[in-house]
Amino acid sequence: MIRTRFAPSPTGFMHIGNLRTALYAYFYARKNGGKFVLRIEDTDRERFVEGAIEKIYRTLKTCGIEEDESPEKGGDYGSYIQSERKPLYLEYAKKLAERGGAYYCFCSKERLESLSDDNGNRKYDKHCLNLPKEEVEARLKANEPYVIRQNVPIKDGEVSYTDMVFGKISVPYEDIEDNILIKSDGMPTYNFANVIDDHLMNITTVIRGMEYLSSTPKYNLVYEGFGWEIPEYMHLPPIMRDAQHKLSKRHGDANFEDFTAKGYLPEAIVNYIALLGWAPGDDREKMTLDELIEAFSASGVSKSGSIFDEPKMRWLNAQYIKELPFEKFCELAKPYYEESVIKGKFDYDLFSRSLQPRIEIFSDIIEKVKFIDDFGAFAQEIYYNKKLKVEVEMVKPILEASIKALTVATDYTNEGLVNTLTGVAEALSLKKGQVMWTLRAAITSLPATPMGVTEAAEILGKTETLRRLNFSLNLLK
Ligand code: GLU
Repeated sequence: MIRTRFAPSPTGFMHIGNLRTALYAYFYARKNGGKFVLRIEDTDRERFVEGAIEKIYRTLKTCGIEEDESPEKGGDYGSYIQSERKPLYLEYAKKLAERGGAYYCFCSKERLESLSDDNGNRKYDKHCLNLPKEEVEARLKANEPYVIRQNVPIKDGEVSYTDMVFGKISVPYEDIEDNILIKSDGMPTYNFANVIDDHLMNITTVIRGMEYLSSTPKYNLVYEGFGWEIPEYMHLPPIMRDAQHKLSKRHGDANFEDFTAKGYLPEAIVNYIALLGWAPGDDREKMTLDELIEAFSASGVSKSGSIFDEPKMRWLNAQYIKELPFEKFCELAKPYYEESVIKGKFDYDLFSRSLQPRIEIFSDIIEKVKFIDDFGAFAQEIYYNKKLKVEVEMVKPILEASIKALTVATDYTNEGLVNTLTGVAEALSLKKGQVMWTLRAAITSLPATPMGVTEAAEILGKTETLRRLNFSLNLLK
């Protein structure tokens, strides 16, 4: 059975590159009727950030990714948090040493530093590999600090494997260093822990970022040292900020929760990033999680990095926003109204009726509602509209007739206002659009607004609408 895993390090953020790795590992497992495992790789205690593990759980849940085994859900493979598996790695490192695939190293920092060449490059010289067994035992007994290193065979030729995306990858033996597997604090390095856990957790398919592409031969030598079966590998191309730069953790906006805070819907983020680096083989752009799973295959994964295009993600998000049931839209929009200039002033749901088809992300609301508050003296040129043939001279009679009609009107709903103003246009023998345009300018004092006059007047209500129209009438020379 196919088993994939997502193995994040809890360093604080859920970078969207990591999230995409999780998605592909999840898709691949689901598509193949397999299992998807979440393992926390927290052996690097210096990079550990409080609360980061919870953020990982929260993000996966928000995105609809359901793991089969994890620290929260448990499973048949012991703890799914590496720091809690610490004794296991030492035990396996000792076993590997017995089999000749690893050795104890007691070299001092000074000695290691002396191995650097003129360019600061350093390759460990296997000094401790040849220590007599008795000496190793005596030094261990005397509690001398040590590390355990991988013993890479000295030979010509290359170590190769076939990656599902990148094809054959080969690295010469001589380029592979005897890396540390167990550090002096007894913690495993990533190099070792990932191999041990992937093997012990029966992971069949390792899906991860391509930064591990060329170190994988080294990991495969560890599998071979134990006589274990090597998993299949799918390395993923990077997500790029532009043609030259990877989207980095330091580049603030690349975190999942920054996007949700801006008002992206998780479904839209998932949809967008799933298509960064993989294509379903047709021209679909809007896909549900189930459709993504159904369409996913390694053959659609691209070898080259894809540029993260936020306007494109905005566009996709707008499609999702348009489809939300109105009540849901209002509920999700509320925090953004509360953050805007209209906080506590108008009926948010009336705004939502106009804004749902007009925003791309929820935080657009904050800008889009500003116009309603910006009312004040303005230059008369804003009435001019070439296309609708509105001249500034026409404004006075339109305002006067409208004020009259709107004073007696009682129906201030959008529909009621449309009826009243249609009547005004007919009475003046003008086109409806000419009256609407003129009044929109008069009640907002702005050359452009995100909604028409009747929608705005419904929000403002009768008293404020009439106050503004009278103000604008008085401004006319
Ligand atoms: N903990 C590693 C990381 O976050 C995981 C790499 C892997 O999937 O093997 O980069």
